[in-house]
Amino acid sequence: MTEELARVLAASKRIVFFGGAGVSTESGIPDFRSGDGLYQRGGARYAPEEILSHSFFVRHPEEFFDYYRTNLLHPNARPNPAHLALARLEAAGRLTAVITQNIDGLHQAAGSKRVLELHGSVHRNRCQRCGRGFGLDAILRSSGLPRCDCGGIIKPEVVLYEEALDPDVLDAALSHLAAADTLVVGGTSLVVYPAAGLVREFRGRNLVLINREPTGYDDLATLVVREPIGAAFGAAVPG
Ligand code: ZN
Repeated sequence: MTEELARVLAASKRIVFFGGAGVSTESGIPDFRSGDGLYQRGGARYAPEEILSHSFFVRHPEEFFDYYRTNLLHPNARPNPAHLALARLEAAGRLTAVITQNIDGLHQAAGSKRVLELHGSVHRNRCQRCGRGFGLDAILRSSGLPRCDCGGIIKPEVVLYEEALDPDVLDAALSHLAAADTLVVGGTSLVVYPAAGLVREFRGRNLVLINREPTGYDDLATLVVREPIGAAFGAAVPG
């Protein structure tokens, strides 16, 4: 199947990659939705979707940052062969954009330039009072509530539940999809908003799905690859 993938990629001129959590699990970053993922504190138990919501952030910022630092920050994670292959495709002028639901910055670490981060990034953080921007270090170095010199709380520019996606990022993703000849979807079962809707916008020739589990879109795909994404891409796009 990687021969098929290699053939499709070699014949494409405007590839767009759309990736989910499965792209990063091979770099050792667990999907926070997997496992039981429950968070217990002060006798209360919370689901990840509750902790990572805007209203929880406002009401319980200490608990939010406790969970966030432990479960969403992986500063030692490194790009895997999938990230590196996508960066090579872009450098070769055959891939126009990576659209990702991940917030870990590993595509940029691999060398990708046009990365559309639908859910934001742990590498961008902003003081809620004065608007000053901070890197990941400001969150890693602090304990409890990360605070700016002005006293304001520094909030990660990660899209929380109940928060809207950045319309500019969404528009850019749609433009790239509309102009793509090949869409490769990897590491997502395509059930999380807005992934499914984005795939429906694609009008190009080849829809390739790389996922270990079946998805609801397998019937629409021109090629389905059931292999680990790093192995599939590493073989299809030799370095
Ligand atoms: Zn400030």
